[in-house]
Amino acid sequence: MMKVKEAFEIIKERFEKAGVDSPAFEVSVLMEDLLALPRNPEITAGETVLETEQEEKIFAAAKKREEGYPLQYIIGNWEFFGRKFFVGEGVLIPRPETELLCEAVLKFFSRKIPPKIIDLCSGSGCIAITLAKELSGASVSALELYEGAFEYLSKNNAFHGNCVKTVRGDALEAFGNFDCVVSNPPYITGKEMKELQKEVTFEPETALFGGEDGLDFYRAIAKNWFEHINSGGLIAFEIGDTQGAEVKNILLENGYLFVSVLQDYEGRDRVVTAIKP
Ligand code: GLN
Repeated sequence: MMKVKEAFEIIKERFEKAGVDSPAFEVSVLMEDLLALPRNPEITAGETVLETEQEEKIFAAAKKREEGYPLQYIIGNWEFFGRKFFVGEGVLIPRPETELLCEAVLKFFSRKIPPKIIDLCSGSGCIAITLAKELSGASVSALELYEGAFEYLSKNNAFHGNCVKTVRGDALEAFGNFDCVVSNPPYITGKEMKELQKEVTFEPETALFGGEDGLDFYRAIAKNWFEHINSGGLIAFEIGDTQGAEVKNILLENGYLFVSVLQDYEGRDRVVTAIKP
């Protein structure tokens, strides 16, 4: 029989040894999610004695995490823009940087009539669902090709009141007419794919690999969707931090105007937006 604070210390130390980025935070998240304990359980519930079953459960999860398995897949959900999204193998884990992409779109449409938006390579649907929830009256579609990801998209959409229209399809095949095309497409280069952080190797390659130079999706989306964006409408991409100048050029070459490259909280290029003339 072990107390919460003892289990917490043991697992925290193991995480430190395994090179987990924020050991105490991650133990706290695991205990909160798997054992229904309050945040910072070593303080708030330190003296509570774990039942054998609970102890087995938390140590089994900790072992997986030590082996590099993502925390978000273990607990099966993650927060994005203040909302819960279900995740697991087969779908990209929402990243905090992607919130910036949502903010850029929200800002652009804040004083305009409710737009018609499509999110390409929607994955968990974190972008599409956030936009639908934050922009009242907007009509948002979420396009996803892969079955595993599409299941999470559908589940997240149901959880959030079916606020978006989910579409199974390829981002490279354009259709319809929209005021905004938004996407966080796969943008990792061939070289970077060989040097991925352990955790990221568990995420689907199809959500990561953007072709040898990482730019395949930007080229194809910019070109193929041009005629499907209404005049005065917005195209908005998340990008890798070294891709700002190249993605800007791709958009200019394809006829878009007013291209802006925006930085994330760490000062790295992260979002590119442009207007369809
Ligand atoms: N749109 C999803 C996200 O931003 C998935 C992106 C992807 O699979 N490349 O998390």
